[in-house]
Amino acid sequence: MKVAKFGGSSVASAAQLKKVAQIIQSDNDRKAIVVSAPGKRFSEDNKVTDLLIKLGEAYLADKPYQNQLEEVLLRFSSITTELDLSDRILEEIKDDVSSVFASDYPKELKLEAIKSIGEDSLAKILSAYLQSLGIKASYLNPKEAGIILSDEPGSAQILDESFDLLYKLRERKEIVVIPGFFGYTKEGKLVTFSRGGSDITGSIVAAGVKADLYENFTDVDSVYCVNPTIVDNPKEITSLTYKEMRELSYAGFSVFHDEALIPAFKASIPVCIKNTNNPDGLGTIIVSEKEKNGNPVVGIASDTGFLSLYVSKYLMNRELGFGRRLLHILEDEGISFEHTPSGIDDMSVIIRESELPEHKELKVIKRIKEELDPDQVYTERDLALIMIVGESMNSSVGIAAKATEAFSRANVNLEMINQGSSETSMMFGVKEDGVKQAVKSLYEIFFLEN
Ligand code: ASP
Repeated sequence: MKVAKFGGSSVASAAQLKKVAQIIQSDNDRKAIVVSAPGKRFSEDNKVTDLLIKLGEAYLADKPYQNQLEEVLLRFSSITTELDLSDRILEEIKDDVSSVFASDYPKELKLEAIKSIGEDSLAKILSAYLQSLGIKASYLNPKEAGIILSDEPGSAQILDESFDLLYKLRERKEIVVIPGFFGYTKEGKLVTFSRGGSDITGSIVAAGVKADLYENFTDVDSVYCVNPTIVDNPKEITSLTYKEMRELSYAGFSVFHDEALIPAFKASIPVCIKNTNNPDGLGTIIVSEKEKNGNPVVGIASDTGFLSLYVSKYLMNRELGFGRRLLHILEDEGISFEHTPSGIDDMSVIIRESELPEHKELKVIKRIKEELDPDQVYTERDLALIMIVGESMNSSVGIAAKATEAFSRANVNLEMINQGSSETSMMFGVKEDGVKQAVKSLYEIFFLEN
């Protein structure tokens, strides 16, 4: 049994949905289908989820929302008309919106319910379309499917009891089409995952039904070893481990939601990234373990928007609890940190800039000065992180030498180097304006010169 998830671009138009139906028909093992809401058809287009958010926000701010509603309906009607489906589905969408607005849910939950309408309606449309082609298929609401989530609107997590409920889906004879991105709390409130969360639903369903494969259909042929907007025509990755994929998606690989790996990983279900526009291509397969041959570096990732909080104090290494107290100040101020490379008498904390806006920075620095009495404390903004990733880096000598050679060739100064003892990734901090040059140079050294 395979679980296939189709992302926003794969369901953005009637033409794309026709390809989806063909893919479903071409393999009888594709029994559970998870869908996103329609995404962009071209680069300036809007995602339906974004339109729905605007609609919900207009309503909640007591502003006119008719235009936003029209825009949503237009997106769906362009699909249903071309697929020759009844107008009943459009009426249902209108009713869904009205009933959310008329409900007595608190504001936050109203917005959650509005956001979910994109996926929910698309799942209804796809199942109706499959039926019109004579395929036995039905729409399945996440509540009926058994997707039970924690009460964290906008960033819900799956609860363990879901998996046994989902296992029962194996008994179904027909294909089930499940909307991604949302589920229900134990109390029955509708809550969503974080943005892009349909990947998470797919992974949860795959884990629940103990699928042989979780196929994630998107709009690229495979995962590339480096960001194709930085390097032209980069090499494709044919296989990588969960751990490698997790590290790459942390630092900017946006092909697959990073939370989506966990359920598949825990249940040891291979994940395959495929292209709806080229379904016969090999794609990229993500597995627990792979043979250690070939290039020890599988990919290079980079992400911008970081800062370093630098604290130094003579004899810091002998001051018991210094690190804990520093991190405690951050915790106290609700700031999440990413990494903490350190020296003998200094410690840097790498933080996403969004976590520490300037007004918070003043407060944090004041507290550090008062509570830790450092010699120096300051922040350095506009940092980018670059990671080279590969599980077999741990048994290869000379990787760091090559990497630093690449930075030197690109004439980019290294602000920070970090490698944990798992040696699955090596991380470099550089100023944002040097990131592209550095990534290109790393690609040349690790992928072209080998
Ligand atoms: N539609 C949702 C979003 O745009 C979830 C998804 O597409 O995966 O974030």
